[in-house]
Amino acid sequence: MESKMSSVRSYEMKTCDLEPISLKELSTTLQDHLSKIYGHVKVSVVNCPDLSKEPFNLAGSYLGGKTAIADLGGIPYLVPVGYAAAPIYPLIHLAKKMGFQDAHLMGAACVPFQITGSIADFMPNISYSTDEQTGKTTVNHGSYYSEMVDDKKHIMRHLASDCVTVLANVFISENKPSKEIKIVASKRVDKRGESLTIAIRDILRIAYPEKAISMGGMFLARKGKINIHVMPNDFSKTPCDTEEKVNEWLKYFEASAPIVGLVTLHSKDPGFNFRDEHTHCIGKGEGGHYHHDTTPDTIEYEAYLNIAQKIVRIDQPALNNEIPR
Ligand code: ZN
Repeated sequence: MESKMSSVRSYEMKTCDLEPISLKELSTTLQDHLSKIYGHVKVSVVNCPDLSKEPFNLAGSYLGGKTAIADLGGIPYLVPVGYAAAPIYPLIHLAKKMGFQDAHLMGAACVPFQITGSIADFMPNISYSTDEQTGKTTVNHGSYYSEMVDDKKHIMRHLASDCVTVLANVFISENKPSKEIKIVASKRVDKRGESLTIAIRDILRIAYPEKAISMGGMFLARKGKINIHVMPNDFSKTPCDTEEKVNEWLKYFEASAPIVGLVTLHSKDPGFNFRDEHTHCIGKGEGGHYHHDTTPDTIEYEAYLNIAQKIVRIDQPALNNEIPR
């Protein structure tokens, strides 16, 4: 497996520019569709609040300026067999290569096990700025990973590193104030809304079948509970070649609000064989990969999302980027 992987590795960076779409139009579309699956929905275009403040507490303040979603590596480096020789992707270096001198980066990834000693679900949450005169970069690290401490318990650990490995899905902006889509949704009445982010992805697909729309940002689950998974500390000892085996290997938890989700989603794949939705969560002492709410009556989200102007695919695996089914 390893020799096959290393022979297909390219570390190539491919870019796809996306057509713009008006936030006003998007907000109307999302309002129409989301109101069929949540009892209370309000979608609007607003000035982004300072997301570094309570109750959001992100490393950066805003989601505006130039925007991109970077999709790095992929599932084939994780399952069916973990790829122990996976390279490290330094996010700040890569974002600078994409033209971001200042940036707010956030999303879902695998923790750099080469640094931490074990694999884990990682929540990259970083802002940086570069001094024009000296070229010095100042970084604000707000990233966490969820580490299993025994078979039944996980804890959140802060990690002051911009490195990720195996796979990563990251929304990058210039951290500038701008208009965003704000979604407030509560009281879920339809199974299609179990995962807010998958519901949004599917609405974009239905409403704009010809268009590629990618969005990133965050949600805060203000009330209710969500289902998350946390990766064990090591790659699976036996091949995870079916969905059942993947689910057996992962550890599932119910996490409570308030909890923040770092979101990337895409309505269309431009041939990059990438992840069309990926959200990792940071809560109070718990967090991991977001699946769906478990409390339809009490769930309450507040989300701020922006449109990605481009998708950047880095180190695309040659194999199919899907969880085995
Ligand atoms: Zn994940």
